[in-house]
Amino acid sequence: MLYQNLSPAPADPILGLTDAFKKDSNPSKVNLGVGVYMDEKGRTPILKAVKQAEKILLDSQDTKSYLPIAGAPEYGQAVQELLFNSRESARMRTAHTPGGTGALRVGADFLRKIRASATVWLSSPTWANHKGIFSAAGFKTAEYPYYDPASHGIAFDRMRECLKAIPEGDIVLLHVCCHNPTGVDLSPEQWKDVIGIAQERKWIPFLDFAYQGFGKGVEEDRAVLEPLLDAKLAFFVASSFSKNFGLYQERVGALTLVAETADAAEAAFSHVKTTIRVLYSNPSAHGGAIVTTIFRDPALRSLWLSELNEMRGRIAAVRKEFVNQLKAKGASMDFSFICRQNGMFSFSGLSDAQVSYLREKKAIYMVAGGRMNVAGILPGNIGYLCESVAEALERAP
Ligand code: PMP
Repeated sequence: MLYQNLSPAPADPILGLTDAFKKDSNPSKVNLGVGVYMDEKGRTPILKAVKQAEKILLDSQDTKSYLPIAGAPEYGQAVQELLFNSRESARMRTAHTPGGTGALRVGADFLRKIRASATVWLSSPTWANHKGIFSAAGFKTAEYPYYDPASHGIAFDRMRECLKAIPEGDIVLLHVCCHNPTGVDLSPEQWKDVIGIAQERKWIPFLDFAYQGFGKGVEEDRAVLEPLLDAKLAFFVASSFSKNFGLYQERVGALTLVAETADAAEAAFSHVKTTIRVLYSNPSAHGGAIVTTIFRDPALRSLWLSELNEMRGRIAAVRKEFVNQLKAKGASMDFSFICRQNGMFSFSGLSDAQVSYLREKKAIYMVAGGRMNVAGILPGNIGYLCESVAEALERAP
């Protein structure tokens, strides 16, 4: 029998949690696992701007013929405008990819062709899939220090020291904002420092930008990329529009390659296209067409921005309320650091024993290591959650 000796693969640490949550019959159960935005009612709605763009597309689309390998050119332009206000566009090329995951994998497979022996450096900790993606492409991976549990901030001195010792030609994956899983981001000054080191040491920055607009705002979040462009370095940006356009299931993202010169960009991108050709040939159209339609229509664009700002605002308000209620319930730990974190995720500071206690006794699901999706905290569950966390701190110290 073909599969006789095959034991089942371990469940995905994040998506496996969703399965366990769905099976849990406890009526008070709370899902703080998978990173999906939820409104106050716990729904993940389709944005109004997206619905309107889809109506326009339904009426105007007149073919289902293939897109080019790298997707529609106008989509690439929209992405470059979002990332760089279209500055230095001759030095960059963008491919429409299946989500941010697809962007990371296309970039990884392309880099493997030209930098086969490089090591890919990931932050400690990082999104669980990073290691899987770069390992699947055939790379060795290593970690640079990032999170400092004692201060709930960044171990910047140790991070700097490590980045300074990374050899030329290695690849360094950096989260632009809303670091997953910690919620702790570099300051603009720290970014400048990191970019200076990249220039000096000549390693390749690979930026994961899955949450543009969820940090401080669309413009503020992208601002840290400007010095990188000015440094005339070659680098990559993996964008995802799963969260900021709510297009999770449409699988829409982009890989933007920035080269030192326009000619180098052209040559490198031809290899990105051959990489895509053997992976999935060309992207599916719908998600990218939604983003492009919203971008080209000023009214839809401002509607989208206001909806994105609303999502960001809700998360910030929830962080404050969570910290206040924990204090009110007598939690034996100061959680004020949670208000300094950005984006959907929060490293709660809870131990593995407390995370297990919450799951087993209270049906509250968060990722091992204490990462919670703050958007999963709702007016209807915040009281129960805070009481349970205070209890876990007492009973599973
Ligand atoms: N990078 C990070 C840091 C993420 O959190 C995610 C989504 N969880 C992705 C990339 C992948 O995004 P997508 O769902 O668009 O593939």
